Amino acid sequence: MSTTPLDGFDRQQLIAAADLYGTPCYVYDEAKLVAAWQAFNADWQDQPHQVCYAVKANPSLAILQIFARLGAGFDIVSGGELQRVLAAGGDPAKVVFSGVGKRTDEIRLALASGIGCFNVESEPELMRISRIAVEENCVAPVSLRVNPDVDARTHPYISTGLKSNKFGVPHQDALQLYRLAARLPGVRIVGIDCHIGSQLTEIAPFVDALDRVLHLVDALQSEGIVLHHIDIGGGLGICYRDETPPDISDYLTALRTRLAGRPLKILLEPGRALVGNAGVLLTRVEYLKPGEEKSFAIVDAAMNDLMRPALYDAWHEVASLSPPGNQQRVWEIVGPVCETGDFLAHDRELALNEGDLLVIASTGAYGMSMSSNYNTRPRAAEVMLRDSGPVLVRSRETVEDLIKPEHLLTF
Ligand SMILES: *Cc1c(COP(=O)(O)O)cnc(C)c1O
Repeated sequence: MSTTPLDGFDRQQLIAAADLYGTPCYVYDEAKLVAAWQAFNADWQDQPHQVCYAVKANPSLAILQIFARLGAGFDIVSGGELQRVLAAGGDPAKVVFSGVGKRTDEIRLALASGIGCFNVESEPELMRISRIAVEENCVAPVSLRVNPDVDARTHPYISTGLKSNKFGVPHQDALQLYRLAARLPGVRIVGIDCHIGSQLTEIAPFVDALDRVLHLVDALQSEGIVLHHIDIGGGLGICYRDETPPDISDYLTALRTRLAGRPLKILLEPGRALVGNAGVLLTRVEYLKPGEEKSFAIVDAAMNDLMRPALYDAWHEVASLSPPGNQQRVWEIVGPVCETGDFLAHDRELALNEGDLLVIASTGAYGMSMSSNYNTRPRAAEVMLRDSGPVLVRSRETVEDLIKPEHLLTF
């Protein structure tokens, strides 16, 4: 695995991508995506397992296609994501559907597509799924998403496994709800699920959560409710700066050790750890505004393209792909959006010229997927680096695309 987020990216290929398709532009590396997939699938011996890529980290059809061809399942959180998985050739039987607000039409679509499992997050959702399945003359495979009430020790906005979070069924209510599920005509219990947060950099919270879920598995078994799978969610962190998340293999070894000897299929829902360090954002310097207090490098990417710095105060490595420029300073890297929160990086020492090409690292996850059109900024192009060179996988949006669904009033 790479040691710094930019290791293994081919400079010339990145420059070629920017020249061919313009900036701002997200670039993904196919070999890195495949390597991350393989790391999650190594050393399982005969333990049945299924890795379900969490689509919301990056729903690019090209990325879904790469994983689908490698045999991936998918963790979805909307009907829209299901349609993307199907469009990319994903196997619906390997899809798990998470999320606290599944709409009736989304549940119908998922049933009609034959998804593998609904990860149910509340009693009213369980009742709704059962009712719809009965109407549709089918039986919905379900897991309950249990909130194990462990502290993932990550950013509060991306922690999901505490009692105070909106996600999942409280641990102490889970048995009761399983008993209800066992009596409902429209559902079939197939598993149990948990997901405690994102960008976790320690193994301990995962193991704590797993122990609490296994406790429930045993309690259910003693009541005759037998599960086929245990879904341990996603959330493994990556290195953005100096974090030291566990290796994928150490993480898997810790979990497998806990699960040894149980006849349960193991499902995982990694998002960030599969794609985060396989993608970068390319941007060009528009203007340099050196100042006494702060010096600003104004670039053509902004918070609408990459929201993580503004939203979580996230740190991304920034490097120049151009020859060293004439103005060596400590720069604020900011976008053109009319918000003081529109920054991509603070206090970066770089030697810059106008027109330089910069690369913002570790942006494969929650970059493009959280982008918006704020300030009527068309969304960036997306490019896949393949052995054969850069391939455009999403055209840059046009302003025409943006205003097409709108209607002028008549006067
Ligand atoms: C977001 C999410 C994931 C993926 O989280 P990562 O931190 O990207 O691995 C997995 N499962 C569920 C239910 C999620 O909401």
